[in-house]
Amino acid sequence: MKEPGVLHKLSRRIGLIKPSPTLAIQAKANALKAAGRDVISFGAGEPDFDTPDNVKEAAIASIKAGFTKYTAVGGIDDLKDAIIAKLKRDNQLAYERSQVVVSAGAKHTLFNIAHVLFEEGDEVLVPSPYWVSYTDIVYLTGATPVVIKTRMEDGFKLKPAELEKAITPRTKAIVISYPSNPAGVCYTRKELEELAAILLRRGIIIISDDIYEKIIYDDNQFISIASFSEELKSNTIVVNGVSKSYAMTGWRIGYAAGPENIIAAMTKYQSQNTSNPTSIAQKAALEALNGPQEGVLARGREFQQRRDFIVRKLNEIPGIACPNPQGAFYVFPHVASFYGKRFGGKVIENSSDLAAYLLEEANVALVPGADFGHDDHLRLSYATSMELIEKGVERIRKALLNG
Ligand code: PMP
Ligand code: GLU
Repeated sequence: MKEPGVLHKLSRRIGLIKPSPTLAIQAKANALKAAGRDVISFGAGEPDFDTPDNVKEAAIASIKAGFTKYTAVGGIDDLKDAIIAKLKRDNQLAYERSQVVVSAGAKHTLFNIAHVLFEEGDEVLVPSPYWVSYTDIVYLTGATPVVIKTRMEDGFKLKPAELEKAITPRTKAIVISYPSNPAGVCYTRKELEELAAILLRRGIIIISDDIYEKIIYDDNQFISIASFSEELKSNTIVVNGVSKSYAMTGWRIGYAAGPENIIAAMTKYQSQNTSNPTSIAQKAALEALNGPQEGVLARGREFQQRRDFIVRKLNEIPGIACPNPQGAFYVFPHVASFYGKRFGGKVIENSSDLAAYLLEEANVALVPGADFGHDDHLRLSYATSMELIEKGVERIRKALLNG
């Protein structure tokens, strides 16, 4: 390709970020499959289940009824009401319509929040391992993400003392998410209360990404940090969406609930970029939230069986230590014991090398831990069939034993 020349010079801002690694790996796995390679993908985290029929039918009905035009920028009232009812029912949180905004996926919601709140000089706390997009979303606003590294020995939980240490006069907000991507971390009420007390005392806005709320295992319970007190609620922006709970990744509906002035700013911001989220997808999300909820639980049970299986199988591989995630649909095994070893004629130095080797040698796609801030790990999404999990892990075992 010809050099684009000075007219095509890109902004400094875009140079600060990388393409989403999870989506890039998924795209690579798909391209290899299309080219005829038998790749098993543990790449992007999206439920392998089909979108429920009642949801599809609601969308089809809305097309037939001609509900295919612009809607209110921040989402239709019916959907806002369904979100308000959900937040009351599941999270004991009461909101008005003016405190809710619907966007094109939770990623978009987080992006909008960041752009109405952050600017240069602000620091935003991001406990690691973190979801790949948090840091880059912060960078795009000119603010600085401050990563607080947690330890596998602590179950990757953010400790109050570590939180306190990371706070400076510039700290504006924290992004927390549980069950977390990639480590499946859940917090107890007591742990959350301790963190919340510090955040409140230091005047830090909480961005609570609750997208994996419904995919939670064993005796863990999802408790919204915003539900502890009115004061905390007014300091928290709750983020959620239908992608994970209802197998609706492609529909692109996410939402935020929080203080009225922040929601109004997000709606204004959205009015100058995407306008409303897709009308048809809003009707589909409305049905997802208002319709029968049994499927959510059934999918959760299925994910738990897969988790039990993949954790056991990975831990049977000498050199791998795989913690037991408490939610979401990822495992985050420790693999550093393979670093410094020679595989396929090349010394493996880090998680990117190991992921590349496994794709090349074992035809298994997974995401390097470095993309989540922990280079000693790999991330595997087990939102795929039991059969493919079994086959894929066996391939990994062989490739690591024969290296
Ligand atoms: N938050 C987390 C932690 C995620 O893993 C994802 C991945 N999809 C999102 C937000 C965004 O979800 P979506 O944009 O599909 O609603
Ligand atoms: N959140 C999923 C993941 O972590 C989907 C891809 C993305 O948006 O990052 O794989």
